[in-house]
Amino acid sequence: MNARIGLDIGGTKTAALLVDDDGRALGEVVQPTDVTAPDRLVAAVVDTVDRALALAGATRLELVAAGVGVPGQVDPDTGTVRMAVNLNLREPYPLRHALQTALGVPVTLENDVRTAAWGAYHRANTARPLASLAYLSIGTGIAAGLVLGGRLYRGAGGMAGEIGHIPLDPSGPRCVCGSYGCLEAFAAGPAIAAYAAERLPAQDGAPLTTGQVYALADAGDPAAGHVIARAASYLARAVYLLVMAYDVEQVVLGGGVTRAGAAFERPLRRALAALRADSPLAAAMLPDEKIVVVPADFNAGVVGAVYLAEAERLPLAARR
Ligand SMILES: [Zn+2]
Repeated sequence: MNARIGLDIGGTKTAALLVDDDGRALGEVVQPTDVTAPDRLVAAVVDTVDRALALAGATRLELVAAGVGVPGQVDPDTGTVRMAVNLNLREPYPLRHALQTALGVPVTLENDVRTAAWGAYHRANTARPLASLAYLSIGTGIAAGLVLGGRLYRGAGGMAGEIGHIPLDPSGPRCVCGSYGCLEAFAAGPAIAAYAAERLPAQDGAPLTTGQVYALADAGDPAAGHVIARAASYLARAVYLLVMAYDVEQVVLGGGVTRAGAAFERPLRRALAALRADSPLAAAMLPDEKIVVVPADFNAGVVGAVYLAEAERLPLAARR
């Protein structure tokens, strides 16, 4: 058997999906990420791979390729992580080389949002052939991954899709990047929680989490409803921005904030309908079926990583 593995390395957890030649899932595991030092990070990832193999009754001899998504700036050509604060990698680190040496198979390295975009693209592509898609990740931050002409689009410096830092309102709150009123400063998880803290009482002495704000809004709380409607309005504009900038066939939304499920999707659809009601152009460009929220049971990150691994055909020696 030839097995491929997809890995989604997050700041706290690493998820792995092992598949066989035909793309059938053989095993899926989630383990803690060790960010105390680069060599320990690599050791923990290798341990996750070994556990996934053991779960499938397979060995390292059957592993032929790995795809890896990491939350940070990645140079896919050199396999270097330029910076990944959540992984405690603040200096450039040759993660691909370290993983290839440890695992003995070719490794493809990519930014995590772009990896998830690749997973979302392959999911959409099985329903009907698509050449273009934008994946909007809404979590601690906001970023988009782009598939154009059937390929991941990275931009000149690997920054394509970083729309979380497009300033939308100069009178808005200060963003972590230094600008004022970025999309991320209005609609990322922490921004929603911060705005809710200004307008809603704490529960049991603790500030509300983003998930709690969504649940309250969904239950009809007017103050929470206002907070969520504002976030949804900015996200709808971000979707419109992606459609108008790239004329993609589908926009897929994923990331931690979308796990609120229907409580996330309903206000987003209302905000999109409001854009359509204002403008015949928006009505033509933003049909409801063009916008898809990733289902809770679909892990776009590991699936995308598996497809990255499948794209890897070069022998190990050629990749060093
Ligand atoms: Zn910003």
